[in-house]
Amino acid sequence: QQKFNKPQSTRFIAVANQKGGVGKTTSSVNLAAAFAESGMNVLVLDMDPQGNASTALGAEHGSGILSLYDVIEGRAEISEAIQVCPDFENLDIVPSNIDLSGAELEIAQLDNRVYLLRDSLREFISTSHKHYDYVIIDCPPSLGLLVLNSLCAVHEVVIPIQAEYYALEGLGQLLRTIQLVQKGMNRELVISAILITMYDKRTLLSQEVYQEVEQHYASLLLKTTIPRSVRISEAPSFAQSVIAYDPRGLGAIAYREAALEINKKSTNIFNLLDRLKKE
Ligand code: ADP
Ligand code: MG
Repeated sequence: QQKFNKPQSTRFIAVANQKGGVGKTTSSVNLAAAFAESGMNVLVLDMDPQGNASTALGAEHGSGILSLYDVIEGRAEISEAIQVCPDFENLDIVPSNIDLSGAELEIAQLDNRVYLLRDSLREFISTSHKHYDYVIIDCPPSLGLLVLNSLCAVHEVVIPIQAEYYALEGLGQLLRTIQLVQKGMNRELVISAILITMYDKRTLLSQEVYQEVEQHYASLLLKTTIPRSVRISEAPSFAQSVIAYDPRGLGAIAYREAALEINKKSTNIFNLLDRLKKE
């Protein structure tokens, strides 16, 4: 088994794609669990009002439980809303619930509306007694204010793409949004990886999707693909990542490999960030 290296400084990663059902939450949760399993301190922020990442990591979430909604609206600090996930003592999460869907409208008039998450997160990271190696944000399926808040709070975006027909539809719009954020709101943002999910190696379609992404975005595309697997899809109903639920299965193995690839990319990314800062 290969070794993960601790990143030089905290890596802030948003898992984003405005399409629903492409594997954002599954990837957020399982990459986070893979990093945690390898001994790193990880924080997951559930930015989707559906709260699927909260469910999948066994976090309490519902009315009366402090969530990212309270954080975004300035009623709570991240330190008050954070929970430790039951399966990994070094994996923390700030949950969300359906209330968060009201936030987009409620913050729409604020001057700093795209920086609310970034500012809360900076405050938390700079005052926390614990050092985090990875902060992973699970984005909702839109390009609205919650996603802009997420993109402004990170240095990296990981884009999951489902190996299916129309897989690349909408990718152009996502890339343009990321570019707009880079230009106007967050100069440090880079796309660090594209991850193909629900890959079925027996189908020509899966191979075609992989090849097409490779043609256009070879440097971003991870070699690892995530197979379509029943274990992956049933793990959340046990409030577990597939890393904890089925540690020896193909799904867990694939997410570990993808996490390792992302981990190895760190030097490139930090070089790129240095270069951006000098410009
Ligand atoms: P998103 O967050 O982008 O909406 P999800 O991660 O929730 O997508 O995945 C959508 C659905 O597909 C979920 O029911 C999930 O369990 C399932 N799923 C995700 N990845 C896989 C996979 N590799 N194999 C089988 N089912 C998967
Ligand atoms: Mg999701």
